[in-house]
Amino acid sequence: MSVDIPFQASPDSLDPTDWNAVRQMGHRMLDDMVDMLAGLREAPVWQPMPNDARQALRTGALPTEPGDLETVYQDFQTLVQPYGSGNSHPRFMGWVQGGGNPVGMLAELLTAATNPNLGGRDHAPIEVERQVIRWAAEMLGFPQDASGVLVTGTSMANLIAVLVARTRALGTDVRHSGLQGRPLVAYTSVEAHNCVARAMDMAGLGSDALRLIGLDEQHRMDMDALQAAMAQDRAAGLQPFMVVGSAGTVDTGAVDDLAALAALARAQGLWFHVDAAYGALAMLSPAQRPLVQGLSQADSVAFDFHKWAQVPYDAGCIVVRDATLHAATFASQPAYLQRSVRGLAGNQPWPTDFGPDLSRGFRALKVWMTLKTYGAAKLGQVVAQNCSLAQQLAHLVDAQPQLERLAPVTLNVVCFRVLAAGVDLDALNADIVADVQESGVAVPSTTRIGGVLAIRVALVNHRTRLDDVQMLLGAVLMAAQERLALGDFQAK
Ligand SMILES: *Cc1c(COP(=O)(O)O)cnc(C)c1O
Repeated sequence: MSVDIPFQASPDSLDPTDWNAVRQMGHRMLDDMVDMLAGLREAPVWQPMPNDARQALRTGALPTEPGDLETVYQDFQTLVQPYGSGNSHPRFMGWVQGGGNPVGMLAELLTAATNPNLGGRDHAPIEVERQVIRWAAEMLGFPQDASGVLVTGTSMANLIAVLVARTRALGTDVRHSGLQGRPLVAYTSVEAHNCVARAMDMAGLGSDALRLIGLDEQHRMDMDALQAAMAQDRAAGLQPFMVVGSAGTVDTGAVDDLAALAALARAQGLWFHVDAAYGALAMLSPAQRPLVQGLSQADSVAFDFHKWAQVPYDAGCIVVRDATLHAATFASQPAYLQRSVRGLAGNQPWPTDFGPDLSRGFRALKVWMTLKTYGAAKLGQVVAQNCSLAQQLAHLVDAQPQLERLAPVTLNVVCFRVLAAGVDLDALNADIVADVQESGVAVPSTTRIGGVLAIRVALVNHRTRLDDVQMLLGAVLMAAQERLALGDFQAK
C-alpha cells in the first residue's frame, strides 16, 4: 500500500497540513507491526547488526531540514527493527526480560496521542495509575492504603525503597542535613541483583555498607550467617537498618525465605524490602504462590510489570506499606507546584510525592489495559507455564549424560553446562552460548555458578512453548558437537 498524501507540517505548527497523511501512515505502521508480531516465531531471535546499518546510525549530523516521513519509516524498518535484542521472541531465554503484548502496544499509541504528564494535578490518568497501584497492593497482599508509584524499573524502585528505609532509620532530617557520618548498614544475599548495591551507592550510603550474605544449598540467604553479620555489625557500633530479600534471583531464580526474613527484620527493628522484580508475579499463580510466601509481610516491594507481567518496556513499580513515610521521603512543595483544594492543582498527594521524578509519562495505561484485557489469572498462567517449562528442561538436561545441571530449579531459571573430557569447559560453554545466539535459533546467556561458567536459560516470555525449549537444547548440543569437532579447546 503506498501513501498518496505526503506528511507535511503546516506552516505554523507541527501538525500536518492534511490529517489523512497521518492516518494513512499510521494505518500502515500498525499493519506492519501486527504482521511483525504474528510472524515473530519464524524470524531469527537475534542477528548482529551489519556494519552499514551501524555506520548509518553512527554518522550524520543533526537533521536541520524536514525529511520525508515515509523515508524515515523505511530507515526504521531497515536499520532498527530487524536488529533488536529479540526479547519479544519465544526463544529469547537469555535474560529475565518480558515479551511485551499487543494490547500494551496499542496502549502506547493511546498514551502518546493523549500525552498526559503524571507528575501531579487533578486528571483521570492519575486515577488510572492509582488504580494500578491498588491492584499491585492487592496482588502483593498489602493493605489498600499502601502507597506506590510506577517507575522505569526495579533498579529505580529499589533505590526508592532504600531512601524510604533511610528516612525510617534517621528521620526526615536526613533529607537536609545528610548522613552526618551515621553508619547505616544493610543486608542482602550474594545472589541479589547488583542494582541493590547501586541503590546503596546512589543513596549516599555506599555499596560497602551492603553486606552480601552467603547462600544455603537452595541459593537462599543463609539465615544463620545473616544473624551473625548483624550481631557483628552492632558490636562494631554500626546501625543495621534494612534487609533486602530476593524473590527470584537473576542467576538461578532462587527465592529467599521471605517469611523468616520478615520475622527477623521485625524482631531487630529493620526495614524489610523485597526485590521481587519478576517473582512478585508468582503471587498470581496458585502453584507458585507458596514459593513467595512472606512477600505480603514486607515493608516495601519492588517489581516490574515489564517482566513476568509482559507489559511493554518500561514499567517498574514500588509499593510501600507506610504511605506517610513514603511521602515524607520525597514530598516537597516549591511555590510553582503549590497545591490547591479546587481546580486543576488539586487532587493530592501527587505521584511526584512518592519518587524523584516530576514529569512522568502514562506508563499506567499499558499496565491498566494489559491487566483489564487479559486478567490477572491469565498472567498467573504464564508464570505457571514458564515454571513448568523450566522443570521440563531440567528433566531433559538431567537425562542427557553430556549435560550437567548446576543449580536447583525453583522458578523459571535453569543453569547447566556441556561436559567433555580434557577441555576447558568454561571456554567451551561460553563459545556454545555465543554460537547459539549467532545462529538466530535461540538466545541463552551465561552466568557463573559455584565458580564455573553456566549456560543460563531464563523463561519469562509468554510465547515460549515446549518445542522452543527443545529447539534451544538441540541447538546447544549441535553447537557442542561442532565446537568439539574443531578440537581447539585446551585442557585446563
Ligand atoms: C531485572 C531485575 C532487576 C532490575 O530491574 P530493572 O527493571 O531492569 O531495573 C533487579 N532485580 C532482579 C531480581 C531482576 O530480575
